[in-house]
Amino acid sequence: MTCGKCQDLCVHYAIRSPKDLARAIKIAQENLNDGTVSEIEGRNPLGLPAFRTLLPDGPLDDIVAYRFSCSTCGEVFSLHAETYHGQGGAWEPERKAAIRQTL
Ligand SMILES: [Zn+2]
Repeated sequence: MTCGKCQDLCVHYAIRSPKDLARAIKIAQENLNDGTVSEIEGRNPLGLPAFRTLLPDGPLDDIVAYRFSCSTCGEVFSLHAETYHGQGGAWEPERKAAIRQTL
């Protein structure tokens, strides 16, 4: 269940470089700041820093792994990447059926 507020976020955005990751973090932070999504704060077993405190241009920890939910419809999104080389990551809705576009 996606809605008009989060439809632009319902994409699979592959993170292949530090620049891609910086862009994904910026967009997620903008959507957090304007209330489109809220962060799902889990148990944080990796001891990751709070998402709001991340600086998109780094320095970043080796692992970025955060989850968000749409404040309107509850769709869940995941931002995850291995940042050592800025590779192996994505922004995506957790529900595959919610992916409208692959970037
Ligand atoms: Zn939504």
